[in-house]
Amino acid sequence: MASGRLNTGEAHSFLRREGWLRAVLDLVSVAVVLAEPGHGEVLFANRAAHEMAGGRFPFARSFAEYVEVYRLCDASGRPLAQHEYPAVRAIRGEVIEGVEFAWRLPDRTRRVLVSARRFDAMYGRPPVVILIFQDLTANEQARAVLRSFEQRMALFFRRNPLAAIVWNTALQVVEWNESASRMFGWSADEARGQHGSFILPESEREYIVCDVWQGLLRRTSGERSTNENVTRDGRRILCEWYNTPLFDESGQVIGVASLVEDVTSQRHAEAERARLYREAQEAVRVRDTFLASASHELRTPLTPLLLRLEVLRRTLSDPAACRQVDRALASAHRLECLVNDLLDVPHIAAGTLALARAPTDLRLLVSEALAPFRDVSARHTIVYEPPPGPVVAAVDRARLEQVVASLVENAIKYSPTGGEVRISVTASAATARIEVVDHGIGIPVDQQPILFERHFRGRNAPHESYAGLGLGLYISSAIVERHGGRIFVQSEPGRGSTFVVELPLAPPTPDLDDMP
Ligand code: ADP
Repeated sequence: MASGRLNTGEAHSFLRREGWLRAVLDLVSVAVVLAEPGHGEVLFANRAAHEMAGGRFPFARSFAEYVEVYRLCDASGRPLAQHEYPAVRAIRGEVIEGVEFAWRLPDRTRRVLVSARRFDAMYGRPPVVILIFQDLTANEQARAVLRSFEQRMALFFRRNPLAAIVWNTALQVVEWNESASRMFGWSADEARGQHGSFILPESEREYIVCDVWQGLLRRTSGERSTNENVTRDGRRILCEWYNTPLFDESGQVIGVASLVEDVTSQRHAEAERARLYREAQEAVRVRDTFLASASHELRTPLTPLLLRLEVLRRTLSDPAACRQVDRALASAHRLECLVNDLLDVPHIAAGTLALARAPTDLRLLVSEALAPFRDVSARHTIVYEPPPGPVVAAVDRARLEQVVASLVENAIKYSPTGGEVRISVTASAATARIEVVDHGIGIPVDQQPILFERHFRGRNAPHESYAGLGLGLYISSAIVERHGGRIFVQSEPGRGSTFVVELPLAPPTPDLDDMP
């Protein structure tokens, strides 16, 4: 080296001449920096060096500027003194190979691995210091991501409430978490290396080892299985297994990860629920059978009783005695209605309620159904304004009268303060409509959707004061539906209810005797 100035000039002109060298270095993915050894001026930085610097690699003009321009620290973060800079050490003849430094850039610190070496003048080329930087930051970030992922996975594995087990392809335990220890009674140390059959009862071994395991290795099945396992103390438990094959980079299966849930108590609870359900169904069946035979038994003496009371009534002339017999007749009729309701229930449930339909003028039908209610209550006024013309529908007369009577009876019963009960019959294009309106206690809004269910009784109707079986509306809705119609309610609690029955009008030329 003749003099620094000369070196710098030579090196500059050399680099200017050797455009191909600059171009080649720009292709290299590691950062390469050239400095002249006289003053330490940086002469060239390749593309990777500029990128590493986050824009343009700074060009210090002398050793003195290094500390200011580059701000390098050692691996522990201590700023380097000028003589410790890799370029300065290389100029002194030191060969630096892969030493880690921290490079403080304005917006961040990069970890770099630096190699540096001085090349003396040779073959007409000036002396030069070559520095090579490898950016470790990206690697480190990847390592940090991997580390945190591994930590999370480890946490997920250790703390999983399900038993988590990793097997190698020979079905030996590789990993065994705390839940697996709790579930099967073996510690991780005891379990590691054991063949899977150590937690399988004899009866399950063939199926698991041959079917489930082979299916998993072939990746054809076995991802979910439910089977019996055996614990260290010999207990049989029922487990649900979720298995996932693990692959290496070439796609080869290298093991299986399993998550296991002990479903023994869950299955017991399910079995218990099913048993209770069966018992409840059986109780309902016994109740229905009892009600059916009790109703038949009640009906048998009721018919002659009613006949005798009616005969007696006709023979009496004393008004006081007549009133007594009338009361007895009313009670016996009431009893007859209740017994009839009970007898209808099994037919409705079986869908076998028989109807004898014939074209009927609903105007007259309603009028007749209302007859028994005329003097039934002093507090209630029954208002019925028949429509001007006939409203004909194909109905079972007795059954539809039963519906009207049931609605009117309820309207009276659930209007304890009295008032008007208004009944109307109207017809639109293809539908006949019967309405029964009262101003009574109404029906709680949340209970309206279940109003027509069997044995429903509204919570606002104290059962002590309102006797009933909760069957009237159930039977009415079954009758209306069997007619191809519908029944519904509009009601405001405390203000009253409107029950609506809609039925298809009979076709103009009816021959309906054969209708079901
Ligand atoms: P029951 O009257 O024998 O209880 P229903 O099937 O006829 O049986 O009626 C079921 C329930 O519906 C009654 O208990 C009552 O709570 C309610 N309900 C029926 N009709 C009316 C009405 N017009 N106003 C208020 N609540 C009614």
